[in-house]
Amino acid sequence: MTNIQPWESLVGCVGPNSISAAHLKALYEPGYIPDVVMDALMSITCKKFKDVYNICTQSMTKILSGSPRVKSHYFCKKDLFKTYTKVIGALLENENHWTLFFCDLTKQEVTYMDPFGETNGKKKWILKNWSSFAKAKGCALKWTWNDVPHPRQEDGHSCGVHVLMFAQALLEGKGFVDGYASVDIPQLRAQFCNILFSSLDRGVKCTLCWSVLMKEKVCCQECGAHSHLRCQRTPCGICVIWAQKKSA
Ligand SMILES: [Zn+2]
Ligand SMILES: [Zn+2]
Repeated sequence: MTNIQPWESLVGCVGPNSISAAHLKALYEPGYIPDVVMDALMSITCKKFKDVYNICTQSMTKILSGSPRVKSHYFCKKDLFKTYTKVIGALLENENHWTLFFCDLTKQEVTYMDPFGETNGKKKWILKNWSSFAKAKGCALKWTWNDVPHPRQEDGHSCGVHVLMFAQALLEGKGFVDGYASVDIPQLRAQFCNILFSSLDRGVKCTLCWSVLMKEKVCCQECGAHSHLRCQRTPCGICVIWAQKKSA
């Protein structure tokens, strides 16, 4: 028997990213955005740009922190330097701060954006680590910087929202980021929450045990959550949360 808290109910998936009710809540509320949510939203943002390769947050963080493992033949097998013209990825610094990396392979330009602002020392470090990763993958280009002006983060927890806004602007080919201010952050969180929710594939995994659904799946008539017949609860965890919200 699977016994989980309602907030741990799986709501749906975006590719390999499994999103729970708690993940959606963390995105919506003023706080740190979890890795899996950043990965899901970055992949949604990149989806319509066919020439862009989105490096997942875990790999991007390894590459730009200079981890020796990224030179391994097995790391990031895709021949991205030959297949794509742009590379983008969010990276997690000090395990609590989101920043953004972007590379235009045709222009040989590299951009690094920190919502708090970028220091020259940090940029040098990023460039060094990117160059050595690219070289290990057979790409020995000479990179130049492309600085992109952007709004600054004014609190301790909206880095992820800024990084998603930066990514959108860069993918659209803008040379600067504007059009929003710190006061807009709660609204942007709500927007990203909507985008994520409406992009979720809700029929792939069980809301209770989070494992892949086979033939014997059932669907909650109230909220559309899927589960195995053997895992099914009435009401389901997501309906329990909704009922709590309504009565609050
Ligand atoms: Zn199940
Ligand atoms: Zn339900």
